[in-house]
Amino acid sequence: MIDLAKYTKEFSEQLDSSDKILIISHINPDGDAIGSQLALYQYLTHKGKKVGMICPNNLQEFLKWMEGSGEIKIFIRNRKKCIRLIEEADLIIMVDFNQPGRLGEAEKHVMESSAVKVIIDHHLSPHDIARLLISDPTMCSTSELVHEIITLMNGEPFINKSYSEAIYVGIITDTGNFEHGAYTGRTFRIAAQLIESGIEKERIIDVVYNNFSAARMKLLGFALYKRMNVLEEYGTAYIVLTKNDLLEFNHAKGDTEGFVNLPLSIKGIKFSVLFIEKDNFVKLSFRSKGNFPVNEFAAKYFSGGGHLNASGGEYYDSLENTVSYFLKILEENAEWLKSDFKI
Ligand code: 5GP
Ligand code: MN
Repeated sequence: MIDLAKYTKEFSEQLDSSDKILIISHINPDGDAIGSQLALYQYLTHKGKKVGMICPNNLQEFLKWMEGSGEIKIFIRNRKKCIRLIEEADLIIMVDFNQPGRLGEAEKHVMESSAVKVIIDHHLSPHDIARLLISDPTMCSTSELVHEIITLMNGEPFINKSYSEAIYVGIITDTGNFEHGAYTGRTFRIAAQLIESGIEKERIIDVVYNNFSAARMKLLGFALYKRMNVLEEYGTAYIVLTKNDLLEFNHAKGDTEGFVNLPLSIKGIKFSVLFIEKDNFVKLSFRSKGNFPVNEFAAKYFSGGGHLNASGGEYYDSLENTVSYFLKILEENAEWLKSDFKI
């Protein structure tokens, strides 16, 4: 646990001395990226600040209902406007990421900007890219961290429906509804506050999770039935989806979200991998149980990173070669994977 009071004081001072504030979330934003971005936005605009928001690429449907999401400028769709916002900002707050690569095509512009930069994040191994780094991996989500900071700044919990919804979305999506990740008693105390403040939790679950197309459900069935491989001796399962598979099932952005979690519900499986073939590389997602650090695995072999039990990376080769490479390096990690492990 970091000295949050000290960081909040410094953050507050930066806010006080800034006129043009920009909040940026990461590429392929998840519920926590957008939740923490919108929650900060709701609070700061309520306090009379002039705040802009940028996301490197599009939001998925399940996040577009959130109040304020229409105010987020999408870098790849509106480059000129976004570059102007970045150049004019005197304070840039980056939420839910800590590596410049997560800014996508906005990276160069943000890194070259002379604005004071602040990171608010809960991932491990932050890069040195901000004047103020508020990084706390004991938080289940960046939204939980943002809520703690805002509660300290405000002197009491900030009561506002859109704000509470945003924090709640960040918490439930990063913990899979309080099932995995770094959730603690504190997370439940915050959730209790949010629920008591009047959020419609059933509706939030419905709009966040029950938003799939029939094609996506069929792709999921296909992925598990035809494309999942189980290596019992390694406690490992992996799913390989080709570009053609995605085309056949009329793939829309975000359709494969969550697939990688499912093999972990097979008895004895503690490491799950999803391979997705892209135009000139392969995108990988990793999930583990117990103390197998998939963030280190992703960083070491797949130029990636993330959390202890959930991470991602990429590999610039054919799908076939990527899978062979993976099977080879699995052997290097065989000792842990073949061991009896405790969660
Ligand atoms: P997912 O598998 O859901 O795409 O990502 C899981 C986690 O891994 C996310 O929290 C994200 O921070 C991290 N992650 C995913 N892809 C990458 C990547 O290419 N690079 C890095 N550094 N982190 C990633
Ligand atoms: Mn997060």
